[in-house]
Amino acid sequence: MIEIKSQTTPPSNQPRDVAQAMLRGAGQHCPACGQGHLYVKYLKVADTCDSCGTELHHQRADDAPPYFTMIVTGHIVIAGVMALEQAYEPPLWVHVAVWFPVLMLLSLWLLPRIKGALVGLQWALRMHGFGGPENADIVDTAPQPKRS
Ligand SMILES: [Zn+2]
Repeated sequence: MIEIKSQTTPPSNQPRDVAQAMLRGAGQHCPACGQGHLYVKYLKVADTCDSCGTELHHQRADDAPPYFTMIVTGHIVIAGVMALEQAYEPPLWVHVAVWFPVLMLLSLWLLPRIKGALVGLQWALRMHGFGGPENADIVDTAPQPKRS
C-alpha cells in the first residue's frame, strides 16, 4: 500500500512554524497543510483534515476562544461606545441599537477564527497528542474504585 502525504506537511520530528499554523487556523484551514477545512460545523473541529489526513481531534481549545473573543470585542465596542458618546452624546437607545448588533456580529465572526488560531498553536507546539502518542494527555475518564 502506498501512502501519499502532502508536501506541505512537515515530518513529525521537524519543528513546526507557530505563526504559520496560527494563521492557517485563523483562516479556518488545517494548521498542518493549510488546505483542508478545520471545521465540519461552525465551531466543530474536524476529526481529521480532509486534505492531508492530519488528526485534529487532539485539540482542546476549551474556554480560551470565547475568553479571547470577549477581550477583543470588549476593547473594540467599549472604545466605540466612548467615542460615540464623546462626539454626539446620543440617547441610550442609540447605543443599544448600534453596539448590540456590532457586539454580536463581531463575536460570531471572531470566535471561529480565534479558535482556529488556538488549534493551530496547539498543533504547532505538539500539545494534547498533536505530537504523537508520547505527547498525548493522559486523562483517566473512568477511574476504578480502589479495592481493599
Ligand atoms: Zn491538512
